[in-house]
Amino acid sequence: MTEVTDNTPKNPEQPEPRYGFETRAIHAGQEADPTTGSIIVPIYQTSTYVQDNLGQHKGYEYSRTGNPTRTALEQCIASLEDGKYGLGFASGMAAETTIMYLFSPGDHILMSDDVYGGSYRLFERVLARYGLQFDCADMTDPSNVRKEMRDNTKAVWIETPSNPLMKLIDIAEVSAIAKERGARVIVDNTFASPYSQQPLTLGADIVVHSTTKYLGGHSDAVGGLVVLNDDEMYEKLAFLQNAVGAVPGPMDCFLVLRGVKTLGIRMRAHESNARKIAQFLVQHPKVERVRYPGIASHPQHDLAGRQMRSFGGMISFEVKGGFEEAKRIVERTRLFALAESLGGVESLIEHPGVMTHASVADSPLKVPDNLIRLSVGIEDSDDLIRDLAVAMG
Ligand SMILES: *Cc1c(COP(=O)(O)O)cnc(C)c1O
Repeated sequence: MTEVTDNTPKNPEQPEPRYGFETRAIHAGQEADPTTGSIIVPIYQTSTYVQDNLGQHKGYEYSRTGNPTRTALEQCIASLEDGKYGLGFASGMAAETTIMYLFSPGDHILMSDDVYGGSYRLFERVLARYGLQFDCADMTDPSNVRKEMRDNTKAVWIETPSNPLMKLIDIAEVSAIAKERGARVIVDNTFASPYSQQPLTLGADIVVHSTTKYLGGHSDAVGGLVVLNDDEMYEKLAFLQNAVGAVPGPMDCFLVLRGVKTLGIRMRAHESNARKIAQFLVQHPKVERVRYPGIASHPQHDLAGRQMRSFGGMISFEVKGGFEEAKRIVERTRLFALAESLGGVESLIEHPGVMTHASVADSPLKVPDNLIRLSVGIEDSDDLIRDLAVAMG
């Protein structure tokens, strides 16, 4: 049901062209409503569907199993990731949890050493109790993946750019290494968004998103999505999506679908502002180090140029003066709101050590306590820079 059918505009006279990213963001999976002509996919706020005759239905039976608003979102994001299948979830964590049900007690999963704090918490504090084994590796050097893989390694979990240290991982190289050993490669593509990188085209097997962030883009919905190409793995995940039941409601699917329409134009604005802010920070006397893939001093700037179409809107930086100075700055900005999350049109500032990454304080993931993370929004860049300048003054 969620296989990508090309629902982009049709003219029977002409062969179907391969539409560009921006066109697919607006049209993929979204035909005008057949009953009313509504140009926007309606919010199908229903739990069940009437059957014409016993066992005969129009493709939908029950909304945990499938809902037309969700189908549109699943097809649209699958298309943006250049993937065949999409599966929607109630949150990024719900998507991750459901993926993990593909594995069995005794299976080993190797994750990059700077994953989202919530992912680390799910893996080590919840799933490890059910017999899954997890290890971290610094995958900025792909040979570490080869070193750390074991006979029972069934998956390699990658996040690039990483959160909050903005480390990059070569998806193509790590995928090639994992494949030699028969392990699946799963990429959390939340930070980059499909506008910036499409991991399936680089050899990954599964892409997972928190649609709460750039895909939704307006800080008004929580959701998750999984995209993949493999038919057999899709069958298993679709079964799990229904069996586990961590699915999104139609209203949230509608909100994310609306957000996705402007993903391209938003990502360009995020990046343009982030580049200017990164330059401002690089020159600021109170800044020790700026972590942004788009600046030449980023240790993996070349890889960023090869792997990413856009460097995105996330910046981390370390300040002189330690924790106290970092605390002072995050509490003094006015436009940059002190809040967790990222990827919305409004700018956010946070202290990962105290906020998003407090749940991993005892982990090998070391987050410096003078580190500040920015989710650069799409406001006027001069206003954003002035806000930071005043707060840091
Ligand atoms: C937010 C986030 C998640 C978790 O998604 P939720 O929608 O909050 O459940 C996973 N990975 C990354 C990189 C995130 O930023």
